[in-house]
Amino acid sequence: MNLKNLNKIIEKQPAFRKKQIEKLIYQDLIEDWETTTNLPLKLREALKNKTSLKINAKTFTGKNTEKALITLSDNCQIETVLMKHETRVTVCVSSQVGCALGCKFCATGKLGFKRNLETEEILEQVLFFKRREKIANIVFMGMGEPFLNYNHVLNAIKILNSKNAFNISKRRISISTVGILENIEKLGNEEKQINLAISLHAPNNKLRTKLMPISKKYPLENVLKTANKYVKKTNRKIMFEYILLNNINDSLEHAKELSKIMNHPLYIVNLIKYNDTKEFKASSKEKTKEFKDYLKKRSINVTERYRFGKDISAGCGELCLKK
Ligand code: SAH
Ligand code: SF4
Repeated sequence: MNLKNLNKIIEKQPAFRKKQIEKLIYQDLIEDWETTTNLPLKLREALKNKTSLKINAKTFTGKNTEKALITLSDNCQIETVLMKHETRVTVCVSSQVGCALGCKFCATGKLGFKRNLETEEILEQVLFFKRREKIANIVFMGMGEPFLNYNHVLNAIKILNSKNAFNISKRRISISTVGILENIEKLGNEEKQINLAISLHAPNNKLRTKLMPISKKYPLENVLKTANKYVKKTNRKIMFEYILLNNINDSLEHAKELSKIMNHPLYIVNLIKYNDTKEFKASSKEKTKEFKDYLKKRSINVTERYRFGKDISAGCGELCLKK
């Protein structure tokens, strides 16, 4: 698919035409300009020649999950995952090709960074699945760090939200970040409805820096200060993601440290089972329960993330173009 030229072609068109074209792509879900009959011929030819609507994707089907490996117009590849909960469908989208941040537990981190995705390439991922399913939620939890591609991610969200295009409410869109502080602040100032998740994974900066090198640049203390400002300003919850790694961050001592920094009515700790990327071991069921119970007893809001996509390498942190 290649929609980069779309804006150039429609920029001189009247507003109603732009709306019409947006609707054709994102609501009528046309896959070929030939099938449109109500566009002026010259415009249709220009669209046909410059803006292909074909999405080049290979899909892998698992239990409750589908993964699409999408090849972009420059042959870069990204992965997008569809998750089917009982009553609703969530799409997990990538924001970059690879990732520069090299978190030790993450397969995408091992790939290194290729490039940021364009707005249209983010939309292409959602469109791919929208052509098959009705989509309820979007999470920016695929490959890459969304807040290092802030403008394209936010532009994509505008179109995901647009009544004329995807019509998905901002409250059903979540961004997960390692904590790029200036952009957490920016989001709190300009887009209060989008859900924010912060990847925490350790209760102190020493351990966090070992697992997530970016914690050197943005120390945990500063992440917490910025999070606090964000909730004060927006009155929105923040989800803190915490992967439980056996004998690394899962002791009751860690739980105690964590309970001190997560003691806020608007903070939710989301415990995540580690998907094996060969670096660590997942914490046992018993240890996970102990850890969770410890937090609960101290009145910390805590949930466990339901696992998706294990059978097709589409789980969190497993996206690395395995074929
Ligand atoms: N770069 C952003 C968003 C993409 S990662 C971020 O890191 O927040 C999406 C989620 O997958 C994050 O919470 C991340 O910590 C988690 N994740 C990464 N590797 C994982 C693994 N091996 N097992 C389970 N979750 C993992
Ligand atoms: Fe990048 Fe997120 Fe993976 Fe860390 S966990 S390497 S930030 S994608």
